[in-house]
Amino acid sequence: MNQMIKILVIEDEKNIRNFITSVLTSQKYQVIPAVTGKEGLSQAASRCPDLILLDLGLPDMDGLSVIDRLREWSSVPIIVISARIQEEDKVQALDQGADDYITKPFGNSELLARIRTALRHSNRMQTDAPLPNRPYHSQGLTIDFEKHQVLRNGTEIHLTQNEFKIVALLAKNCGKVLLYDRLIEHIWGPYSENDNTILRVNMANIRRKIEPNPAEPVYIFTEIGVGYRMAEED
Ligand code: CA
Repeated sequence: MNQMIKILVIEDEKNIRNFITSVLTSQKYQVIPAVTGKEGLSQAASRCPDLILLDLGLPDMDGLSVIDRLREWSSVPIIVISARIQEEDKVQALDQGADDYITKPFGNSELLARIRTALRHSNRMQTDAPLPNRPYHSQGLTIDFEKHQVLRNGTEIHLTQNEFKIVALLAKNCGKVLLYDRLIEHIWGPYSENDNTILRVNMANIRRKIEPNPAEPVYIFTEIGVGYRMAEED
C-alpha cells in the first residue's frame, strides 16, 4: 500500500540516513536520499516526494533555510529531524512551516508513527475534506465533536468550553505536535498574550479530569518547550 509513496530523506549523517532508509523500505516506502540541503532541494523539485524528512544540521546550509525555500512553492509535509542541541530550532522550524519533528535518537516505531500522521493530515488537506466529525477514540476515551461530549469508559466528563476547545483541537490533530502559541491563538484569539500560564492551568484541569493518572498522561503528552501532542487513535 505504501509502494507509491516517495519520501525524500535529507540527512548528512550516513548512519542515520541508512537507518531511516532501511526502516522505510521495509514498509515499502520509496526512499530518495539526499546528503546536502542543495541536493535535497533539487530532488524535491525533480522527484515531487510525498513527504520530506529534513535534518536541521546540514553541511552546506541551515535546515531552516531549506524549509523556507521549500515553502516558497510546495506544501509537501516536512518532518524535521533535530538533535538535542537544536531545541529552539524545533519551534522555529514548526513556525516556518514544518509539520512535525522527531528528536535524535529515535526508534523505528516513532519514526513510522510520525510519517503516518503527517501523510494522513496532508491527504486531508489535498482533498479539501473537512476535519473529521466522527468521534475520536483512544484507549477508552471518546470525544464527540458534534455533541461536544467527552466520555471515558462510557462515563461523561464535564469540561469547560475552553477545555473542550483545547481537547478537540488536539484530537483533530492527534499524533501531531501543536505549538503552545498556536493553541493560545486558537482558543483566546490572535491578540491574546503569549503567556503559557493560562494554557498550562487549563491543561492541568483537563488532565485531572480525563487522565487516569494526571502525572503520567496517556492521552495528552507535553513536548517540553514546544507544545502538546494527543495520542493517536486506536
Ligand atoms: Ca546533520
